[in-house]
Amino acid sequence: MSLLTGFEPIVRQSEPLAQHTWFRLGGAAEYFAEPRTTDELQALVRRCAEEGIQIRLLGGGSNVLVRDEGVPGMVVSLSEQAFGAIAAKGRKITAGAGAKLGHLISVAVREGLAGLEPLVGIPGSVGGALHGNAGSRGGDIGQWTCRASVMTRSGEILERDRDDLTFAYRESSLDELAILQAEFELEKEDPEELTKRMQKYWIVKKANQPLGHQSAGCIFKNPRGMSAGMLIDQAALKGSRIGGAEVSDAHANFIVADSSASSHDVLRLIDLVRSRVAERLGVELETEIEIW
Ligand SMILES: Cc1cc2nc3c(=O)[nH]c(=O)nc-3n(C[C@H](O)[C@H](O)[C@H](O)COP(=O)(O)OP(=O)(O)OC[C@H]3O[C@@H](n4cnc5c(N)ncnc54)[C@H](O)[C@@H]3O)c2cc1C
Repeated sequence: MSLLTGFEPIVRQSEPLAQHTWFRLGGAAEYFAEPRTTDELQALVRRCAEEGIQIRLLGGGSNVLVRDEGVPGMVVSLSEQAFGAIAAKGRKITAGAGAKLGHLISVAVREGLAGLEPLVGIPGSVGGALHGNAGSRGGDIGQWTCRASVMTRSGEILERDRDDLTFAYRESSLDELAILQAEFELEKEDPEELTKRMQKYWIVKKANQPLGHQSAGCIFKNPRGMSAGMLIDQAALKGSRIGGAEVSDAHANFIVADSSASSHDVLRLIDLVRSRVAERLGVELETEIEIW
């Protein structure tokens, strides 16, 4: 029996990952799976555990840079309908990890549920947002999360409630293999007021970030009490270019890629920024994006 036996309808080999990420760069996944149900996901996870195959979860691909060499093992996407349901009841909303974060925010606003609207414009999935505690100056997703179901690397499904969950700046304790679903408890508010507030957040975001480009959002975490973008700007790195990758003029913590770029260009530019900021300002920057 091969690894794929029984999983042919949901697993593809040598799947180019560029088309699944916002950077649109990098090589292929050795295996790429889109399970249609939780049971299928569980069976696949168990098979990979038996065969010693590494698994990674890919959400919307907006915080990942895939190396040009590609990714060994299995990359799983929860893009099928079963993982994307969103339902509101009272002050609570339940969302599948595969749902788009933007969809969750619009349902919340429509239902007159406040809290998530500062996250408007953050691309990607609910699962990706929870994994990295996505946020903005107005707050983060973790502060509204009251429950989550997850799948471990051995295929076990666990329920995690508020006491089990901790969130910090771009970090969460949801570090099992897969986040499947989460529940958010929000505040009741007038939907019209909420819509206006969300639009304001959206205008500010659009004005400050190069949203129309190939990128993965902020490359580096803000060091405590400082802005990585300001440090990069102070180190005179805006506009620096290697191959098809450039430090954005609009927001120095963004690297934007053009159609000629490779992941290698982005990685070399990351190294250049890191070493120049350390040399000139004495600060070690840590990447916020994940490099696969
Ligand atoms: C233009 C742009 C603007 C951005 N602005 C912001 C911003 O303002 N604030 C902010 O915080 N981020 C921002 N980001 C970064 C990014 O959008 C967020 O980090 C987002 O939450 C990532 O979600 P994703 O689904 O795309 O995750 P991916 O990039 O697919 O994955 C990121 C990580 O999450 C893990 N993951 C994904 N889904 C699951 C799951 N179901 N279970 C377990 N792990 C999972 C992956 O394994 C990976 O480790 C921006 C990105 C871009 C491109």
